[in-house]
Amino acid sequence: MRFFVETYGCTMKQGEGQDMQQKLVSMGHSIAATADEAEIVVVNTCVVIKATELKIMKRMRGLQDEGKKLIVTGCMASVQGKDVMSEFPDAILLPPSDYASFSERVAGRFGTGDSQQIHYVSGTTFILPIAQGCMGHCSYCITRLARGRLRSYPLAELTRLAESAVKEGAKELFVTAQDTACYGKDSGGSLSELLDRLCHIDGDFRIRIGMMNPDSLRGQEDDIAKAIQHRKIFKFLHLPVQTGSDRLLKAMGRQYDVSEFEGQVEEIRKAVPRLTLSTDVICGFPGEKDQDHIETLEMLQRVKPNIVNVTRFSSRPGTEAGSMAEQVVSRIAKDRSREIAKLRFEIASEINSKLIGDCIEAVASERGKNDTTICRDHAYVQIVVPGRIPLGSVIRATITESHPTHLIGRLTA
Ligand code: SF4
Repeated sequence: MRFFVETYGCTMKQGEGQDMQQKLVSMGHSIAATADEAEIVVVNTCVVIKATELKIMKRMRGLQDEGKKLIVTGCMASVQGKDVMSEFPDAILLPPSDYASFSERVAGRFGTGDSQQIHYVSGTTFILPIAQGCMGHCSYCITRLARGRLRSYPLAELTRLAESAVKEGAKELFVTAQDTACYGKDSGGSLSELLDRLCHIDGDFRIRIGMMNPDSLRGQEDDIAKAIQHRKIFKFLHLPVQTGSDRLLKAMGRQYDVSEFEGQVEEIRKAVPRLTLSTDVICGFPGEKDQDHIETLEMLQRVKPNIVNVTRFSSRPGTEAGSMAEQVVSRIAKDRSREIAKLRFEIASEINSKLIGDCIEAVASERGKNDTTICRDHAYVQIVVPGRIPLGSVIRATITESHPTHLIGRLTA
């Protein structure tokens, strides 16, 4: 059978989608290039915001009308399974908690195939989900309801998966989870132990560490800083702060305060010069006042993150924040998110403009527009160079132009 896996949402989801493709191939099925060419579509869903949920439901109606058979996976399968099955009674519903039975359920309905396709790696990046669930209590988060409590995947299994991906040509291992810093807290291991194992794998590749929370990072700052210093690990840290207001952090159920976040950033930046810091901010959380918004702007001006992922609060069913009083009107939330996005680009422009004239080594990682290649340097900064450079190869580029999200470079011997 020809399958297509259509993934929505976070990198964790992308990694699980990649794993489903691998399982389907191992069952002898083939992966179609598009949903149109497929007989069966795995819709790997996300419900983190209302707009995405509505888009996916509309998409599934369209696929069903085209006669496609549906397998519905991801967070919607967990928290809105009844709604899905009432509208798509012939679909296979597979919530993340049942992923262990993915192959069995698919074989039960669609049998196995005889395709010769042996393995599946997309581009040069292999996404490695390392755990399901988290230890958080975030009041706005529906993922917590969909994924449940932390279950770290076995160290040996993760190392085996990473080794085979590197053998297959992966140049980047993207270690991801709802919260990578709580890896192993349920099984006696730790993220730095896992990273050390992965760094010992032979081969020319780099590791990117996915998002972690300040409260899970607490007590591991030194270990994580040392890990990031390793030549095989990108100098990249994704540490969502969500707001600059301690009052709102409490209402969000986040277990740290702003000064702790800033202290962690400062400590890791001291150990890792030219670290790329990515953080997340939620605008329009219930009860957010102008003063809270100002505190968020001031925090960003102090910390100067390279990347800020700005999200407008979206009320989710079953979450505490969904029924909180003082929901912020969308016009105000929109204005605040625009102001933060504007500041974020000003900060990134200032940082990137300082790299003009530098000669930087980078790895060609994906195709760019207009016959260019996107490369990533050791701090995971995007450098766009002209030409179709073989993916995975190492280049040196002199920076000729800077933008908030990327640099432009000229190839240099
Ligand atoms: S840490 Fe918080 S935001 Fe992240 S998945 Fe867990 S509950 Fe949700």
